[in-house]
Amino acid sequence: MSRPKNAIKKSYLDLNENEVESILTELGESPFRAEQIENWIYNQGVVTWSEMENLPQLLREKLENIIPLHPLRITKISGSDTEFTRKFLFETLDGQKIESVLMKDGKRTTICISSQVGCAVDCKFCATASMGFIKNLSSGEIVDQVIHLQAQSNSKITNVVFMGMGEPFLNYRNVMEAAKILNQKMGYGARRITISTAGIVPKIRQMANEGHKYKLAISLNGSNEKSRNTIMPLTKTHSLKSLIDSAHYYYKKIHRFITFEYVLLEGVNDSPEDGERLIDLLRSLPCKVNVIPYNEIGGEYNRPNEDNIHGFLHSLKDAPFTVTVRWSKGTDIDAGCGQLAVRDLA
Ligand code: SAH
Repeated sequence: MSRPKNAIKKSYLDLNENEVESILTELGESPFRAEQIENWIYNQGVVTWSEMENLPQLLREKLENIIPLHPLRITKISGSDTEFTRKFLFETLDGQKIESVLMKDGKRTTICISSQVGCAVDCKFCATASMGFIKNLSSGEIVDQVIHLQAQSNSKITNVVFMGMGEPFLNYRNVMEAAKILNQKMGYGARRITISTAGIVPKIRQMANEGHKYKLAISLNGSNEKSRNTIMPLTKTHSLKSLIDSAHYYYKKIHRFITFEYVLLEGVNDSPEDGERLIDLLRSLPCKVNVIPYNEIGGEYNRPNEDNIHGFLHSLKDAPFTVTVRWSKGTDIDAGCGQLAVRDLA
């Protein structure tokens, strides 16, 4: 759908309460319309003004002409061979591209959403890093991924994970605002919202201090300072030791298990000794470990073969924490963990 020529370059979803009120006043409408509109957006998940049946026709037309309802539009949908995973390419109002992934698995429907266009963290194994950092997404742009994917899904979305493009904790304010909207306005329980960070230590402490109950995941990916540093240069600024200290701090404050993600790379962090070091590192912290066999992105790293993956898992068999494996879905359409990067500018 083309956008009206003189449209404001900010969507309704990104307006604050005062801005909404002044638009409605300008149009000679009562502020209670805001509640009706909010209900259509967050509860009914409508994607056009014209669907808002309890608004007068004339008001719908005026709104259509002055402001886009949504900050994103879908420009491409790729379906995986398994049919249970679909990847969505979106365009923002300022012409940037981002991706989100919808995954169905039994009763669960999980979506993986982006928090930034590109990423500044530069993890050596992640495709998003190749884009560099372009911009932070607004809270409206983050929430809109959920609204669009729900409209496209034939089952109710049960879980939302901030594991798409970008580093959520380098866009902390907008990510927390978006999570609050999902939680308070759209009915997603805090335990169904997971925020995954590469390890921005002060923000882990801030999340703990603010008492948020969303799930926290930390991408650990190395069993000691040196191996983590080779693949995650942010370790120079946020040392592994300070990261683990912040995880203890978080647990003391929030009393919730952290999930540590561990991308398994051949010859880098997949030896049984890595497994033993991991046990030592996390021994006294109530947590879970999610091992993610590397999804290849055509760079210098390889995915370990099945024997090595199982060898590594075997080295964790006596670990005091639960170990799970994420056999990524949608790798045939580059929708697996770490494969999101917008190359397709069509
Ligand atoms: N920046 C955040 C969220 C995005 S990455 C973070 O680092 O947590 C989401 C997860 O995908 C992270 O655990 C990351 O380590 C993992 N990942 C990145 N590239 C990957 C790849 N090529 N194969 C498998 N997992 C990858």
